[in-house]
Amino acid sequence: MLNMTTGLTIWCSEAITLATVLLLAWRHDRKSPAYLIWAMGFTVSAVGFALVAARGILPDIWTIQIGNAVALLGESAWIFGFRLMDKRKLEWSALLPPVIWLIGVSLPWVSESFVNRVILYDLAGAAGATLLAFAVHPSDGRREPARGQLGVVFMTLACFCFGSAIWMALLAPALEDAMIYRGYMALGYGLLVIVAIVLNGKLLMERSERRWRAISITDTLTGVLNRRGLQESYDILAGDGQQRTQKLAALLFDLDHFKKINDRHGHQAGDTVLVEFARVARQFVPRSGAFGRMGGEEFVAFVPIDDQSQAEALAETIRADFCRVPLLAGRSLVPATVSIGVAIMTLDTVSWDRLVSSADRALYAAKYAGRNCTIVFNEMESAKEADDAPAADEGELVPTLDDQIHALRRMGTIARM
Ligand code: GH3
Ligand code: MG
Ligand code: MG
Repeated sequence: MLNMTTGLTIWCSEAITLATVLLLAWRHDRKSPAYLIWAMGFTVSAVGFALVAARGILPDIWTIQIGNAVALLGESAWIFGFRLMDKRKLEWSALLPPVIWLIGVSLPWVSESFVNRVILYDLAGAAGATLLAFAVHPSDGRREPARGQLGVVFMTLACFCFGSAIWMALLAPALEDAMIYRGYMALGYGLLVIVAIVLNGKLLMERSERRWRAISITDTLTGVLNRRGLQESYDILAGDGQQRTQKLAALLFDLDHFKKINDRHGHQAGDTVLVEFARVARQFVPRSGAFGRMGGEEFVAFVPIDDQSQAEALAETIRADFCRVPLLAGRSLVPATVSIGVAIMTLDTVSWDRLVSSADRALYAAKYAGRNCTIVFNEMESAKEADDAPAADEGELVPTLDDQIHALRRMGTIARM
């Protein structure tokens, strides 16, 4: 028959093994302090259970009050570990399990009865397991499938502890039976924690996979999508049958005289201009679209639209905003502008090659028109297969915002005459 000391000793050795594995993981990846905190949690838990198992050898204050509080402190460390893993703020509520225990056990009717102490410990354990389930809860885009599974295991653990407390309260067994039951309880708790550890390993794998994927589609300098990311986003935008709109616009941006900026102000100032352009542009591109760096000083935005004017307005907003942003290289101001080529195709005819090469031709026309402007190719012009440079009359020059305001003012003046 399994007694309490055997159950606790088994769990104690399990906890030491898990702490060693986590310490090794931390040595391998010192940038992840969560491993160290989890290892400390298991060590603390093992020490706590060892103290509880030393009943009769050590004074009661060590085996009851302190031992159980230390064991529950292990749960607090696991909660801290999960919050640290997600770089979230550490909260004092994580210390609730040992605090519940210490407050409860200070009451004489609890401390003097083994059954009441077991009920109190189980309630504190249930609170800890519930906090663990909340700590792994998916949030802020962290949606690895293992988070949900871990949450279920921690909630099962909470129910297990809570159910055990109720069962003990209802049955109120004799001391000997309660000690045997306690042994099984420690073993069951340990098994559930091992399942949680396995799932935690799965979560860490999914997490690092997600990180590597994000790195593989992100431009290191500007933090926007790189070409691979753009291609993936384009595939979704062009192939998504759920799309409410019927057209896709490509806005191709090329910074003007960028070589001169590098030559005059240095490569680092050039990099700052690229970062600033990406910052300005990405804030205007709608969530339904995608924005990224094609390479060098060329960027692109893909946006689902209903009407050509939406693409024109977006391009002009970005162009006008960018040329107004003061860019500094040391003490001198760096004048930077952008030319934009826009191509539009219907979703049933669109292809990456044709859309991007049409936008490229429109961009060429924008450079030809004097730079710092937007040229739009409508669906008909974008659909043309053309290898040559665009003809002078191809594309439509989008009036700048200043031109539009000026025209409106003139109309107002004429109307008043
Ligand atoms: P245009 O107005 O016709 O576009 O002229 P441009 O000078 O911008 O065009 P060009 O293609 O001749 O020059 C692009 C320059 O961009 C050349 C290259 O050194 C610079 N460049 C490419 N990638 C980077 C980068 O990551 N950082 C910096 N600072 N410069 C870059
Ligand atoms: Mg270029
Ligand atoms: Mg350029």
